[in-house]
Amino acid sequence: MNLILLFEDDFVSDDEVRLSGRRLEHVMNVHRANAGDELKVGVCGGRIGSGIVTRLDDALEMRVTLDRDPPPPIPLTLILALPRPKVLNRVIASATSLGVKRIHLVNAWRVEKSYWKSPKLSHENLLLQRTLGLEQAKDTILPDISLHRLFRPFVENELPSIANGSLALVAHPHAQAECPRAVEGAVMLAIGPEGGFIAEEIASLERIGFQAVSIGARVLRVETAVAALIGRLY
Ligand code: SAH
Repeated sequence: MNLILLFEDDFVSDDEVRLSGRRLEHVMNVHRANAGDELKVGVCGGRIGSGIVTRLDDALEMRVTLDRDPPPPIPLTLILALPRPKVLNRVIASATSLGVKRIHLVNAWRVEKSYWKSPKLSHENLLLQRTLGLEQAKDTILPDISLHRLFRPFVENELPSIANGSLALVAHPHAQAECPRAVEGAVMLAIGPEGGFIAEEIASLERIGFQAVSIGARVLRVETAVAALIGRLY
């Protein structure tokens, strides 16, 4: 936790917060902070700064000063075939820490139906994973996540207007084209499930202007592919 993310409910006055639970435990056991110490804080959706610990026992109290903006986002929208629940947590946290602000979780032929019933898709868990990503990266702006349980209607009816004006890429280990490097503008990046997109799904994406691109012959895990692709693009 490189930054403690604060929410409106944490404030007991204009510049004082009181925290319990996960953040209290982390500051006690990992930071091993004491009263008087200064910790990095940021307000969800707002500015970052520092907090002076004024109390640390069964609650953590800090007086906070917010004096800087969070880092700029990267203009990349992730279209992610819904991964297995454990992988979902890691991908959401790491995409968030890389600066992604828009994530569409979408069905695909090789996504197991049961994944859509996972408690990992609850609002609470998705908020927690994004919070962990922001705390890691010292950022405060939560990415938006939306869920699309049907691939074709999403790709045919919704994606064309979302992709409007972006460079649209679908990551595919077997694609002929190489993924571009260090691009300037907005990118829409589709990542397949663990079994990959099927040919028909790649074709549907190509019909609306996506280009299939590869970053090499090695087939990477979803979370590794997301990080490698984003690192290469920006
Ligand atoms: N078993 C599948 C691979 C799935 S890997 C197959 O052989 O086709 C999961 C996803 O990660 C892929 O759908 C793709 O979006 C991305 N990915 C993994 N390795 C990649 C690579 N070398 N180049 C581009 N995308 C890759």
